[in-house]
Parts: sequence; structure tokens; C-alpha cells
Amino acid sequence: GALPEDATIQGVVDRAYRDHKALRDGANADYIPALARVNPDTFGIVLVTADGRVFSAGDTDTEVSIQSISKVFTMALVIQQSGPDAIFNNMGVDATGQPFNSITAIEQYHGGEMNALVNPGAIAATSMVAGEDGAAVWANILDYYSTFAGRELSVLDDIYRSEAATNQRNQSLAMLMHAYGHIDGDPLEATDIYTRQCSVGVNTRDLAMMAATLANGGRNPLTGKTLVDAGHIPEILAVMATAGLYDDAGKWLYRTGLPAKSGVGGGLIAVSPGKFGIAVISPPLDKAGNSVRGQRAIADISGALGGNPYATR
Ligand code: GLN
Repeated sequence: GALPEDATIQGVVDRAYRDHKALRDGANADYIPALARVNPDTFGIVLVTADGRVFSAGDTDTEVSIQSISKVFTMALVIQQSGPDAIFNNMGVDATGQPFNSITAIEQYHGGEMNALVNPGAIAATSMVAGEDGAAVWANILDYYSTFAGRELSVLDDIYRSEAATNQRNQSLAMLMHAYGHIDGDPLEATDIYTRQCSVGVNTRDLAMMAATLANGGRNPLTGKTLVDAGHIPEILAVMATAGLYDDAGKWLYRTGLPAKSGVGGGLIAVSPGKFGIAVISPPLDKAGNSVRGQRAIADISGALGGNPYATR
């Protein structure tokens, strides 16, 4: 069915904000030292319909680092530049059943059957972005994310420096992916660009615009700019459905039916195809690394608005 009228949508968003504002479960990520220092009380919800109406509640302006949500948009860029087979053939589109930073996942599959939303596959995807050199690749990535959001984004420098100083594990994932032939070129440069992309600052509104662009067939509903051919949207959403919430992706899909992606900075986006994109920022995470309030708020809002794409009535 169609979405309800505007006042109803705003009421549903307001109610989810009120219902979950007092929730104190979960904890900030702390394996990246700067993430532990982020304000855990930040809580914002923004829903953008595929035709560009914006509904929000709470703190929609505070920026957090985009973290793993970036993986969706780098994957989209590679698919747009090189076609879906490039992703399918280099890191696969299957769940790993392992945490996002698992080395076991590489050893089990030798990188050939994972996905672009876990760290080894994501760093490999970053290494596949077109560009003459590292600086050009980075410029392409930042510009692509910015066009999705509809404003110029930039790196949160304290987050970047903190992660760059402590990302030895990601460096070793990249080295192993290189050894198995899934990263051409310098794996440490790919890791550095990946670390930058994870440190891009976004607010709840930016994330919702990015999600709404996916909901709207790859076209930003406010600027009208096309970022991905509509024909590629199902492939992007399929990988989000398979692996967007790490090893809890199945539980999330079972509850909501929504392709989604979380990040350890506290952001969570979800897409109801043709209807809306939605984002929440709330830094405290559960054990799988997903925003606690984010999951609750999005599940409630989508449930109330009939957002589940698998529902037939
Ligand atoms: N930059 C983070 C990392 O590589 C992203 C992880 C995440 O958000 N799950 O560990």
C-alpha cells in the first residue's frame, strides 16, 4: 500500500523517538579509541520518502563517523563503474556467518565467497574504485558519498587518526586479501583509503538522504542527481539484506524485511524500496555491533508504515 499522510508519518516518527529516548542499553564501540568518547546520548531519527518529504525527530545535526555504512556506497560505486560481476566475482555476495573483522572468513573462503560489507570484502571493494592514484580514488569516493547526501561531506580527523593508529587488524585482513589475489596494488594504501571512508562525518539527515536515494531507484530525491542506475539497486539491496547487520542480519531481516546497514559509529540506515529511506544515529551498540535504539526505532516506524517489502498486505 501507499504511505499514510504526512501528519501520520510525523506522528509515527515522534512516537518512536519518545518510546526509545530513555533506553540505555548497549555501549559505544571502544576498539577505536575515539569512538568511546562520542556522546552516547545523541539520538536522531530522519525518514525521507522516495519523493523527497523529510520527517525528523531529535538530534538530526550532530555528526558521527559513517563507519561501515560507507561500505554500501563504495560497493555501489564499484558496481556503477565496473558492473555487478566485479563484486560478485571478487568477494562474492554470501553471508560469512562471522563478525565483520573476521580473519577466519578469509581462510574459510579464501575471499572468494564473502561480501563487500565485511571488512576484508570492503577493503577489496575500496581497492577496486577507479582513479589514477590513491588521491584520485579517495576524491572519487568522497565526492560520491557527498552527492548521495546532497551536501559536501568531510573526514572527522580525530576519528581518522585514532583508527589509523590502531587498525593493524584491518591491515592484516588486507594483506591476506592481497595474498589471495583479491586486492591488486598496495593493500596498505587500500586500507588507508578505507579508514578515511569510514571516518567521514555524517548527521542523521545525511544518512537518511543516502538511504532515500537507494529507495528512489538511485536518484537523490532532493537534488535529482542519479548516483546508481536503477537496474543496480536490487543488487545493492540484496547484499544489504544478506549482510547489512553483520552476523545478526538474519534476525533483523526476519523482524523487518528491510535491507539495512549499520556502522560502529552508531548510525543505522534502512531502505523500503520505492517508499522511504530512514536513518537513526544513536552510538550505544549491542554485542553484534548494531545501534540498540536504531534497531528499535526503525523496526517500530517501518512496522507502523507498512515498510516491509515482503508483506503482501
Ligand atoms: N572502520 C571500522 C572498522 O574497520 C568499521 C567497522 C564497522 O562499522 N563495523 O573496524
